[in-house]
Amino acid sequence: MRTHILWAILALTLATASSWTVYFLFEPTYTYNRPAQPAFSISFDDKYVSEWHKHRGLFKKYQVRATFFLTMPHQLTPAEIQMLQELAADGHEIASHGFLHENSSKFIKEHGMAAYVAREITPAIQAMQSIGFTPSTFAYPYGARSLTSDRELTKYFHLLRGDSWKVAGKGIDEVDRIFYQYDGSRLVHGLGIDSNSGVTLQDLEAGFKRAAQNKEAILIYAHNISEDTTGYSLSPQTLEAVFQLAQKHKLTSFTFRELIL
Ligand SMILES: [Zn+2]
Repeated sequence: MRTHILWAILALTLATASSWTVYFLFEPTYTYNRPAQPAFSISFDDKYVSEWHKHRGLFKKYQVRATFFLTMPHQLTPAEIQMLQELAADGHEIASHGFLHENSSKFIKEHGMAAYVAREITPAIQAMQSIGFTPSTFAYPYGARSLTSDRELTKYFHLLRGDSWKVAGKGIDEVDRIFYQYDGSRLVHGLGIDSNSGVTLQDLEAGFKRAAQNKEAILIYAHNISEDTTGYSLSPQTLEAVFQLAQKHKLTSFTFRELIL
C-alpha cells in the first residue's frame, strides 16, 4: 500500500517536472508588449522583388508597411538588393522564406531536422545577413510545418507563419487561426488572397470587420503584384482596394515583427 503511494508521488513529481520543461522550452525569450488593437498584417512571399518595389508608392499612399518573405536570397542581383534596401528604408520588413524554398515536412521526413536546418535555415539567415538584413520572422514554404519544426525554428525566429485558405461555406471571419490576438503566440497563419485564391473583397471585409470589433490583427498574404493575375498574383487595383478596406475599418498596418515586439 505504502509503495503505491510512493509511486504515485514519484509519478506526480515527474509529471510536474516535465510540464515545467515544456514551459521553459516555449517560454519566449523576448518581451511582447503590443496592446490589442484592430490591425492587419499583409505579407508577400518568394522573390518578386522588382514587382514589389515597383508598387512602393501604393504602400506609401496608404501608409501600409508590409512584410516581404524572401526566398533564395543568394540569387539576388545587385539591383534587387538595392530595391530591398529601399523597401526596408520605407519601413517594410524583409523576412525569411527559406534558402531554397524546400517543403519542410517532406525534407525533414527524408533527411532529418539537422539536415533541414543546415540546408534551408542557416544559409538563408547568413545570405540575408551578408546583404544587411537579419530576418527575425519566417514563413514556411507551402505552409508545410509541424509542431517539431515549430519548436526548432523558434530558436531562430521570433514568429513563424503557416498558411490558411478560404473554405467553402465558411466566412473568413470564422477562420479563427488567421486572427492574432496579441497573446504572444509564436505561430500565426496567413490567409492567401492571391487572385486564384477565391477570396473576394466581400470576404475580406467580413474578416476586417471582425478584426475591428475584436481588436485582433488579421493576417493576409499574396505573392506577386502584377496586372497579369494568372499565377500567384494580386493586381495593383485589388491591392489598392484591400488597403482602402483596411482604412475604412481603421485597421493599423503592422509588419510581422511589429505584431510581437
Ligand atoms: Zn513560397
